[in-house]
This record gives sequence, C-alpha cells and structure tokens, in this order.
Amino acid sequence: QAKAAGRNTFCFFDPAMQIRVTEHATLARDIRQGIQQQAFFLVYQPQISHQGHVSGAEILLRWQHPERGMVSPVEFIPIAEETGLILPIGQWVLKQACEQLAIWEQEPRWRHLELAVNISPKQFQQTDFVSQVLATIEKTQCNPHRLKLEITESMLLEDIDDTISKMDLLKAEGISFSLDDFGTGYSSLSYLKRLPLDQLKIDKSFVSDMLHDQHHADIAKTIVSLARSLDLAVIAEGVETEEQRAMLEGFGCFSYQGYLFSHPLTLEAFTRQFL
Ligand code: C2E
Ligand code: MG
Ligand code: MG
Ligand code: MG
Repeated sequence: QAKAAGRNTFCFFDPAMQIRVTEHATLARDIRQGIQQQAFFLVYQPQISHQGHVSGAEILLRWQHPERGMVSPVEFIPIAEETGLILPIGQWVLKQACEQLAIWEQEPRWRHLELAVNISPKQFQQTDFVSQVLATIEKTQCNPHRLKLEITESMLLEDIDDTISKMDLLKAEGISFSLDDFGTGYSSLSYLKRLPLDQLKIDKSFVSDMLHDQHHADIAKTIVSLARSLDLAVIAEGVETEEQRAMLEGFGCFSYQGYLFSHPLTLEAFTRQFL
C-alpha cells in the first residue's frame, strides 16, 4: 500500500488522506489498464434546438470499471489529466466523433448533425493539438463544419494568444468552439471578446437553481444577453424541467441539453430514439 501511494505520503499521518492517495494511484493504474482493455466507451446526449429539432449531440466519456462498475468522468478525468492519460483518451474520443460524423455525412437525413467533443486543457495545450485535429479530420474524411470543440474557461488563463491562434487555425477549417460551463470560471469580458468562439454554454448549476434563486436566474439571463451582444449562439445544459426550459426561452435561449429531453445514450439508443 505504501509503495502504491508513493512519495505523497510523507507529510503527516492522516488516514483519510492515505486512502485518497492510494485510491488515486489505484485509479491511475486502472485507467491505464482500461485503455488497453477498451473499457472506455462513449454516450451521446442530444442537443435540442428550436421546436424540438435535434441539432446533434455532445459526446461524453464513460468508463466501465471491472470491479467498481461505472465510474463517473468527474472522478477519472482529473486523474487522467494529472497523469497525462487524457492525451491518448482524448485523441481516441476525437477520432470516434469524427468517424461517426463521416458515417452521418453519407446519409442525407443525418448530414446536418453536429457533434460536440469535450477538450481538456492539457489536450488543447499540446503544441501539436491543431495538427492532431486536422490529421484526424483528414483521416476520417468527416465534415469539420459538423465538429464542435467544447473548451473551458480554465484553459483560457494559460496563454491567451496561443489559445486564440490555435482556435483561429481550427476555425479556418470550419470547426466551431463552445465555451463549456460558462459562468463558473473567471474569464474576463475582454478575453471573451477576443476569443473566436461560436457558442456559450450556460452551466447547469445556474439552470438547476434558476426557478428558486433569483440570483441564478439573473446570471442565466445575463449570459443569454451577453451571448447576443457578442453575436454568439447560446445553449443551456442540465435542463431537467419544462419550467426551466420555458424560463430559458423567455430569456432568449432556444437550444437545450438535459434530462428533460434525454439522458446521455449509447449510439444505438440515440439513433433509435432521435434519428
Ligand atoms: P460537461 O461537459 O459539462 O458535461 C455535462 C455533464 O452534465 C455530463 O456529465 C452530463 O451527463 C450531465 N448532464 C446532462 N444533462 C443533465 C441534467 O439534466 N441534469 C444533470 N444533473 N446533469 C446533466 P458527465 O457525463 O458525468 O460528465 C462530466 C464532465 O466530465 C463533463 O462535464 C466534462 O467536463 C467531462 N467529460 C466527459 N466526457 C469527456 C471527454 O470525452 N473528455 C474530457 N476532456 N472531458 C469529458
Ligand atoms: Mg461539455
Ligand atoms: Mg458543460
Ligand atoms: Mg458542466
């Protein structure tokens, strides 16, 4: 156990911390194995635009652990980030998305569908991120206009000029960008104005409290008008009730994602239920 926990155990004896450190090392080891054993898979959560029309889906990673069962990305993504394992995993997710887009491209009824892929800061910050994405598009022959990359405010803090130049290169090929979990980070308005974004995504924490918390309703409303004034699209995540949807619509937000419409689904279920 001491060996697995490694050099992080020196500071003082704290059983709870000991467990966390061991747990962390175990998960990191299991992620490595999971990659080899193909224990990761993807689910699709529909994105709904005006009049209930399905514009596409966000792709979300799932991990079926041999003993623990389903492990949430909230638990394993941070560890995958720290260990660098997010790089091969993220590359795999992107390739899956592009392959699926290429399949849909062959079918006139499905050609319009867009896929949104979450990109971790570490992935985006790789010096060859742009060429990786372009190579994947080239190899899969997907339509880059159907690919949307979800980035978060945390990665904007790193090097804004580098971020902008990477985004510009990808946008020149038709790829679009959505700013995920918007409102929870620190991006200043001046940054926001400089970034070549296409969409803001209202974080589900605001949506879930909107009906009971005026402050959160005000934030959601402000994000919608901010998007409008910056000429960006806006989508709300975590929409669970018709009341929430109606309130968002009242604010001028017409794209939604959440349990009201669907939980994330396997590709088969998504295809069967929504296409
Ligand atoms: P996110 O990108 O903000 O994704 C939205 C999360 O909200 C997803 O959780 C989704 O299942 C959940 N969700 C959707 N609708 C509702 C709703 O109506 N109510 C509630 N309470 N939750 C809803 P999930 O799948 O557990 O993913 C958590 C986070 O893990 C994601 O947050 C994203 O940051 C990260 N993640 C997932 N897949 C990937 C991936 O392929 N790459 C990277 N880098 N991160 C990923
Ligand atoms: Mg996302
Ligand atoms: Mg989000
Ligand atoms: Mg979120």
